[in-house]
Order: sequence, then C-alpha cells, then structure tokens
Amino acid sequence: MDRCSFCGREKKDTRLLIAGISGYICDSCVEQAYEIVMEESRTRNDFDIHKLKIMKPAEIKNFLDQYVVGQDEAKKFLSVAVYNHYKRLMFQPQTPKEDDVEIEKSNILLVGETGTGKTLLARTIARMLHVPFTIVDATVFTEAGYVGEDIESILTRLLQVADYNVEAAQKGIVFIDEIDKIARKGDNPSITRDVSGEGVQQGLLKLLEGSIVNVPPQGGRKHPEQKMIQVDTRNILFICGGAFEGIERKIAQRLNTQVVGFNAAMETERVERDNLLQYIAPQDLRSYGLIPELIGRLPVLTYLHPLDRATLRKILTEPKNAIIKQYQKLFKIDKIDLTFDEEVLDFIVDKAVEFRLGARGLRSIVEAIMIDFMFDYPSRDQKELTVTLDYARAKLDKANMKRLRAA
Ligand code: ADP
Repeated sequence: MDRCSFCGREKKDTRLLIAGISGYICDSCVEQAYEIVMEESRTRNDFDIHKLKIMKPAEIKNFLDQYVVGQDEAKKFLSVAVYNHYKRLMFQPQTPKEDDVEIEKSNILLVGETGTGKTLLARTIARMLHVPFTIVDATVFTEAGYVGEDIESILTRLLQVADYNVEAAQKGIVFIDEIDKIARKGDNPSITRDVSGEGVQQGLLKLLEGSIVNVPPQGGRKHPEQKMIQVDTRNILFICGGAFEGIERKIAQRLNTQVVGFNAAMETERVERDNLLQYIAPQDLRSYGLIPELIGRLPVLTYLHPLDRATLRKILTEPKNAIIKQYQKLFKIDKIDLTFDEEVLDFIVDKAVEFRLGARGLRSIVEAIMIDFMFDYPSRDQKELTVTLDYARAKLDKANMKRLRAA
C-alpha cells in the first residue's frame, strides 16, 4: 500500500501523494517542509552580525580599492567611520551604564558631482560587510500627510532586503542619495510651507539620530490595516550623498576668496570646484540649506573628486568588475577571446569626456561599440576577436550620441 514516508498517511487520506525513488511524500508534508525551510532560512539569514569579522580601516580601504578607483580621501574617511561604527555595534552594551563612555554613531555625508562613485562606495562597503543595504533617493520623500513617500518607507525597504529579519535590518546600511535636494530653498523659511525641504529634513533627523520607528511592512499608506513593525534605527549606518551644486560659492564666501574661473572655460571651472570642495565644512552645508540638527547627525563629512581622464581610463579596465572585464567574461562564455586595442580604450575615454558622460557613459559607449559583435559572434566559429580603433570609430559614428547622453 502506498503511504507517505513522512507522516505515514495512506494515499486515500491525502490530496496528493508524490512518489520519490524510494518513498512517498504527501501534500501536507510538502507544505510543512516548505514552512520549515523558509523559517530556517529566515533565522539562519545571510546577515549574521555575530559572524562579522571587523576589518581594520586599512583593510577596508584595500577592499574599496578593488572596486573604486581613486577617491582616496573619501575612502579613508569611510573606512574609519565604518570601522568605528562596527566597533560600536559589537563592543558597546545595549544599555550602557551611566558612567560608560558612549560611542556615538558616525553617519557619513559624501559630497561630490554625480557619477563620481558615491553610490559605488556605499554599495561596496555593504558588499564587504554582508549587511542589509538599500539605496533611497531623498527627492521622493515628503512630509507625512503630503503626496509622496513617507520617510519611514526607507526602513520598509531595508526590512525587505533583510527578508524581514528585524535584527539584521537594525544593523544595516542605508544610502540616501540626493540629500542636497531637500535643502531649504531660499533663506526665508516662512514664505510657503516647504513640503519637500525642511519637513523632510526633520523626518530624516529622527531616523538618523536613532529612535524606534513604527514601520509599515509593505510601505505606503495604502494598507492601513497592516501591522506595524518596530525598528530601532540606533545602529543603522546612514551614508548620505549629494552633488550640492554651487556649494563652492558658499565655501568661497566663507574662505573669503574670489572664485576665479566660474565663467571661464569648463576645465578651469572643474579645477576650481575640485580645489574648493576639499575645504567643505559643516557651515557650508548650513548656508546651502540643511538644518543644523541634521548636519550635526552627519559628523563624517568628506568629498569626492570629479573624474579626470586618467581616472576614467582606469575605471574601464582596473576595478575587479571593470566594464571591459565584464565584456571579456561575456565572450569567454562563448569561448571567444576578446581584446581591445589600446587606442580603443583611449578613444572610449575621449568620447566620454567629449560628451560629458562621465563614468556612467563609459558603459553605454562600450555597449554601442560591441552590440553587433555581441549579436553576430555567438553564431560564428571564430575564437578570437580584437576591437580596433577603426571599428570602434565607425560604430560610434553610427550610434546616436543623443541617446548615449541620456543614459
Ligand atoms: P554617484 O553616486 O556619485 O552619482 P555612482 O557611484 O553611481 O555615482 O557611479 C556611477 C557609475 O560610474 C558606477 O556604477 C561606476 O561604474 C562608475 N564609477 C564612478 N566613479 C567610479 C570610481 N571612482 N571608480 C570606479 N567606478 C566608478
């Protein structure tokens, strides 16, 4: 008689009995087993903070170096901040005694043009630490009660990546992009209600300084019936990024210098911007429109350089997952050896600079050059492929640069 090898039920007592090589399993045992597997993976989770090995700042920087080119200053600040953050996580008692020295959280603010590697840095840190990580865009938030997302939805996303493991989420990293866009517009806060500005900053402040927040697990206000999950943000590391366009004027004002070259050629402007950003200080952020309380909660302030030609060239080939390496790997799967002539790589960089596409543009340029090869080669017999300058030039002439620019 056929019966379930797990619960012993006879076939007639089950809805479905599945046969294996040397036994059977019934539908309800399948369901139960599934539950157990899910439960197990939830508790085992990939984000086990107790297994975390603290890396020394120099080791953290070495790791970052594998993925991010240049930006040494930012890397150094970030490495130290992350090191201290995790020391605090692991060695500070949950409820410190009164006379304990309490290590405060060191949320980070990265200032630099778009496409210079801010997100990449944050993402690489998270990859190294194996903690839940999410990227949010500050521009989508509005004060509670207005159209747009509530600040709490940041935590909803973090919970989702942590597979609703609250303990893991509470030790995660959140990257808040475009934080400069929620700066108060103008110096007079009383003209109109500044829905996307100061109110959002106040909301963010609550998360950054560490508090217990009621988080709707599915996010949004569309599910009023959902049970809230309490998330303690005390140990979540917030890394904020923003371009803060025009902030060098504030820096210049403070330094009481003339900004030479602002109306001059692009190159000069870039150099000036680069030179000035390195002097960025909290009071400049205040002049820019961030509220002092929020600035106070972002004690680690650092900057990223605009990418010059040499850096772009390195980005193409050097990082562990450099764009060129990715294409080579794609072709390798079809057993094709892909090489690029040196001039092609310089040409790609030239085009990225010419069209002001930055690092983000490198990929779309390479894609435009490679598309026909990627279409044709898998059905050919050839085992080697070299991309020459003439070929690259011809492909790019045909490609629509306007489209690349939008990428
Ligand atoms: P940001 O957040 O500053 O706007 P991103 O980190 O998103 O910029 O960078 C965009 C892309 O450009 C990244 O995916 C990465 O491929 C490349 N990139 C930018 N800066 C660097 C860098 N310093 N090293 C390596 N790649 C970089």
